[in-house]
Amino acid sequence: MKKSNNYGKKKNNDKRGRDNRVSNFSSERRKPEYAKVNGGVFVYSKPLSVTDLSQAINIPTPEIIKFLFMQGQAVTINQMLDDDTIGLICLQFGYDFKKEEVVDKAHFEELVIEDDEKHLKERPPVVTIMGHVDHGKTTLIDAIRNSRIVDTEAGAITQEIGAYQKEVGGKKITFIDTPGHAAFTAMRARGASVTDIVILVVAADDGVMPQTIEAIDHAKAAGVPIIVAVNKIDAPGANPHKVIEQLMAHDVIAEEYGGDIMVQEISAKKNINIKDLLEMVILKAEMLELKANPSRFAIGTVLEAELDKGVGPKATLLVQNGTLNFGDYVVVGEHYGKIRRMTNEFGANLKSAGPSSPVSVIGLSAVPSAGDRFMAFPTEKEAREVSEARMLEKQKAARSGSAAMSLSDLNNLVTAGKVKDFNIMVKADTDGSAQALKANLEKMSTEQVKIHVLSATAGAISDNDILLATASNAVIFGFNIRPDSRVRALAQENGVEIHLHNIIYELLDEMEASLKGMEVVEKVEKVMGEAEIRHIWKMAHVGTIGGSYVRSGSIKAKSKVRLIRDGVIIYDGTLGSLKRYKDDASEVREGYECGLTIAGYNDIKEGDIVEAYALVEAE
Ligand code: GDP
Repeated sequence: MKKSNNYGKKKNNDKRGRDNRVSNFSSERRKPEYAKVNGGVFVYSKPLSVTDLSQAINIPTPEIIKFLFMQGQAVTINQMLDDDTIGLICLQFGYDFKKEEVVDKAHFEELVIEDDEKHLKERPPVVTIMGHVDHGKTTLIDAIRNSRIVDTEAGAITQEIGAYQKEVGGKKITFIDTPGHAAFTAMRARGASVTDIVILVVAADDGVMPQTIEAIDHAKAAGVPIIVAVNKIDAPGANPHKVIEQLMAHDVIAEEYGGDIMVQEISAKKNINIKDLLEMVILKAEMLELKANPSRFAIGTVLEAELDKGVGPKATLLVQNGTLNFGDYVVVGEHYGKIRRMTNEFGANLKSAGPSSPVSVIGLSAVPSAGDRFMAFPTEKEAREVSEARMLEKQKAARSGSAAMSLSDLNNLVTAGKVKDFNIMVKADTDGSAQALKANLEKMSTEQVKIHVLSATAGAISDNDILLATASNAVIFGFNIRPDSRVRALAQENGVEIHLHNIIYELLDEMEASLKGMEVVEKVEKVMGEAEIRHIWKMAHVGTIGGSYVRSGSIKAKSKVRLIRDGVIIYDGTLGSLKRYKDDASEVREGYECGLTIAGYNDIKEGDIVEAYALVEAE
């Protein structure tokens, strides 16, 4: 077994004071050594030899060898034992036995946390609303959201994320706002189970319908208990009893018929019995005895994520166990980051978030996908190591996939009539465009060439993307994004092709042309120089001036420019003015400072990159 660590006890360098949380991989959880008797149970976690076992259970080796011999197995003292044999020996010598799965940190999804009972605290239930279309899911979500029991603030509060908490009788409920079983199952397909209770909405005037049945199937498959909300009891023709009877045919038996399904009649529209429904959820949660350990580092799931042009990757996380603190280092997917801001559903800043809290965070280094698991680590070093290990695994997985080539290789091969697979990675400014491109590119597969889109994500091209592309021989298609010069250099070093476009059909045309073995695009954009905005000042009549430093190439007056923030193009236009000190300049070269404006655009920020480019003939 790995050496136990002391992360939980170590003082952190930052200023959040004493942190008593334990790491999810701390020694506490692994108290049983890799082979140890614990209260009459022999617990082990890796293969053992006869000698190892003998020492651990304190039975001389000859006795074990003799016992096995009687069973018809001849073994030597150094022989490794399989699990069945270990079990057999344990039973013979009066021990119960248990194999503990040791999960290495890179596979934290598989970690089963067994908290000591004394650390467990009640946690709010996480609820998802499902049901047939038009049965009132959205209306119910709105009714719940607006049912502020203590309405302290005037007017409606804009909710910023798709998950929120409600307090009922001093207890909280967490709602996830993705009605429908598709989202629920998409999450589950990724190994994430985030829901404790499903509220199944059935309209009393319509009864059980196909998607009602599907929702029941999905909830059952996930082993998630159902509470039935018979909705629209105010509607003409409402027949709640019929609904309850229809549900019986699908093994959803209401309490009044001797089953264990709680049913609440409601009207989402008229706000009838909503509070009763919520109280029922609380009751169910109490029966389920939902608990978590707030005094460990957080572990949970990404509910939604996007690239925010102002702040970079932004994600809604559901903390499922432990406590997430501002400043924590978290690994999400293969990336790691530091929580730089954490807010609740109303945008209020949070210092910490306990089990079942949905939070919006910024500070991640890449945009994760919904369903990705996350885990917080006590040190940056640990988070980095785990993310690196996960990245390597991803590359390995990609490498074992099919090999491919560059776009011009593809062109040649198609012309030569050879069949080939072609790997692509898509990076775009929004997840929507990325998914649209993925779908369109995959559709282009021909009998000759099968197109595999390895990944389609929002955000700037990162070092890790280049690594993945290198490992899997993929071409990267970028849409409305810009790699910086460092990433470009890395791509060149590794022979990774990056094709950048700002118009979807141009990107698709380029691919189409290559697939048909045609000549590809004649005019290409060439980056002439890159300047970093270091100071900003505003002048009446002139607008926002960016005090800049030319990092590479040169910037010429009146050139075409793009404004790039966090690797994403946020504006495409032309330079307004270019000055060295107080004088107009015709060109400013690498290593020099200048002041510049972008014609008709003032939203420049420190840290932005201005990229000057020109259209040139392709070589
Ligand atoms: P969803 O597709 O399940 O999200 O259903 P919606 O919430 O969009 O509701 C569908 C329709 O049913 C809308 O016209 C609602 O106004 C109506 N509706 C929802 N709840 C009630 C209710 O309690 N009573 C009545 N009479 N109509 C309702």
